[in-house]
Amino acid sequence: MNTYDLIVVGGGPGGYVAAIRASQLGMKTALVEREHLGGICLNWGCIPTKALLRSAEVIDQIRHADRYGVSVSGLEFDLKKIVARSRGVAGTLNKGVGHLLKKNKVDVYSGHAQLKGGGQLEVSSDKGKEELASNSIVLATGARARSLPGIEPDGKLVWTYKEAMTPESLPKSLLVMGAGAIGIEFASFYNSLGVEVTVVEALDQILPIEDAEIAALADKAFRQKGIRILTGARVTELRKGADSVVAVVDSAGGREEIEVERLISAVGVVGNTENIGLENTRAEVERSFIQVDEWSQTAEPGLYAIGDVAGAPCLAHKASHEGIICVEKIAGIEGLTPLDKGAVPGCTYSSPQVASVGLTEAKALEQGYKVRVGRFPFKANGKAIALGEPEGLVKTVFDDKTGELLGAHMIGPEVTEMIQGYVVARQLETTEHELMHTIFAHPTLSESMHEATLDAYGKALHI
Ligand code: NAD
Repeated sequence: MNTYDLIVVGGGPGGYVAAIRASQLGMKTALVEREHLGGICLNWGCIPTKALLRSAEVIDQIRHADRYGVSVSGLEFDLKKIVARSRGVAGTLNKGVGHLLKKNKVDVYSGHAQLKGGGQLEVSSDKGKEELASNSIVLATGARARSLPGIEPDGKLVWTYKEAMTPESLPKSLLVMGAGAIGIEFASFYNSLGVEVTVVEALDQILPIEDAEIAALADKAFRQKGIRILTGARVTELRKGADSVVAVVDSAGGREEIEVERLISAVGVVGNTENIGLENTRAEVERSFIQVDEWSQTAEPGLYAIGDVAGAPCLAHKASHEGIICVEKIAGIEGLTPLDKGAVPGCTYSSPQVASVGLTEAKALEQGYKVRVGRFPFKANGKAIALGEPEGLVKTVFDDKTGELLGAHMIGPEVTEMIQGYVVARQLETTEHELMHTIFAHPTLSESMHEATLDAYGKALHI
């Protein structure tokens, strides 16, 4: 039996960061991972998709090179090389995580962990079984794609993100089921590569968690690029052919049969709570997610859960941050504050990009705030015009009473980088006053963030 101060189960961005932090705090730490270090994010999610989307962006730029006075003819791309580059990027970072864990003296066990109760854990692998024990165990087992009955991914005609990320050839047509971040990023990627894409979303707006105004602009931009979008619609039946599927789509408008070569199922995720021995503990699971308090503590003393398996938002940066807070709390560090879910940014790396933090206008109103809303379009921003990307909007939502920035929502060039400015603002609890008196470099896209603040108070200068 190997005894540790802390054991982390799962080596994704929640687990490996928690393990490094624990080791930094002087704890003897183990991490158990059954597949890849870096988890879904690094191997099959955030990182490899960003590599694919970068290729799509390059293709788009070349396709529109004329706009910049550059003539390019004979544009061609090699799908195998695009996919190989994406896999290479994931591979490099996976090795990097292994190196970081080693440098921080975390003992890594390759295998499947199962809780045995009483702070004990069994790790099984091809090599056999090992027993570990600790008074503090952090579960960071992540989540996997949810599948719908009758439309289960089969790896051939119906894809999850995994097959969608490693296509051997390009389908002519594609139906993307679900218009959350995964669905929209793949719709954007395949559209740039010339595939005929249809998106089917059950709710009445794409990117349903985003501000309605921003989602409407995204919807318009994707349609202009040739993506067909059906909202308030569901795939209710699937008929498989040899190399294509017919999706029966029901909506308020009626029933439609859509034949496509491939279908991507991107209808959300479920937590990985099975076969990890939760039945040997008092931890509770609701709708596939482990229930935790604000410090990630489950109902079983000494057992914690962080990241996707502990519930929404299922985002890598939320998982890492939760992991750090959880481990620091275990270490007895004073003055910690629990994770503020209202300060977790969300980014969708489609073209155009979408990014946000905090409350949407509708949510703020729903919560009883009297709001002041500011808007600034990129078409009035010098840098955006110079870049040739003047489409998009920055929107701010302030509390009229206190001036607190309740939320910020953006669509357009590089907004996934810019959002961090508003995240810092929210973290520091700044009001409109500090934001108005912050000097933004000229010419930058971020000047739109300044103007969107000024606009909320009737002081915008460039519109
Ligand atoms: P999601 O929950 O964000 O979106 C799923 C979408 O599918 C929802 O809009 C939902 O209304 C829709 N849907 C559900 N059932 C449907 C049906 N029967 N027919 C049509 N539509 C249906 O989940 P996701 O996009 O699969 O992503 C999973 C998780 O990964 C999310 O938490 C997401 O935030 C995260 N993620 C984040 C990023 C990023 O930050 N860039 C990228 C990928 C994934």
